Amino acid sequence: MSEVFKFFLIFHVAVPLSIFEIPLIKRKFEFNRFALIIGSLLPDIVDKSLLLINFGYGRGFSHTILFVLISFVILHLIVKRRTNISYPFLLGLIFHLILDLPEVPLFYPFIAYEFIVVEEPIGLWLYKLFNDPRVYLTEIVGILILVFILINNRLYTRKELVLFLKQNIELVTHQNTTEPYKV
Ligand SMILES: [Zn+2]
Repeated sequence: MSEVFKFFLIFHVAVPLSIFEIPLIKRKFEFNRFALIIGSLLPDIVDKSLLLINFGYGRGFSHTILFVLISFVILHLIVKRRTNISYPFLLGLIFHLILDLPEVPLFYPFIAYEFIVVEEPIGLWLYKLFNDPRVYLTEIVGILILVFILINNRLYTRKELVLFLKQNIELVTHQNTTEPYKV
């Protein structure tokens, strides 16, 4: 039950980002990493916010397949069907639910799920972050993955980082004969 209070913020971002470090994917597809990061955090942003106002259990409405589908379609239309934005967003959402398994109410509201309400969610989460090795070790792994991505892409300035998040630099440099971003 209190498993729902495991809250892997960094790990949730690091794992899907690392997928885009696979050379085959990196060379082939145009994608926006901002969208991926938003997607990979959105279920917790929504459900944990609801939890803070005493609504829900921390994993409810936004940890469902229905939410994934609806938010994907909405974003896809908002960005005028630009798949380099909507697909990474979808991928982030899917990864979030997979990483949260098995305590995810995937088929809510079509199937009823029982979660136990905890009186002090923030206290419990903070307690777990610093006392549950599974939580802090997972986050440390997440930090290491992010550091690897920074070094692997030579992201040493804010400008480089922003550009990296906005587009697939590798693909741009491959297509662009002037190769402005290559060191
Ligand atoms: Zn979650």
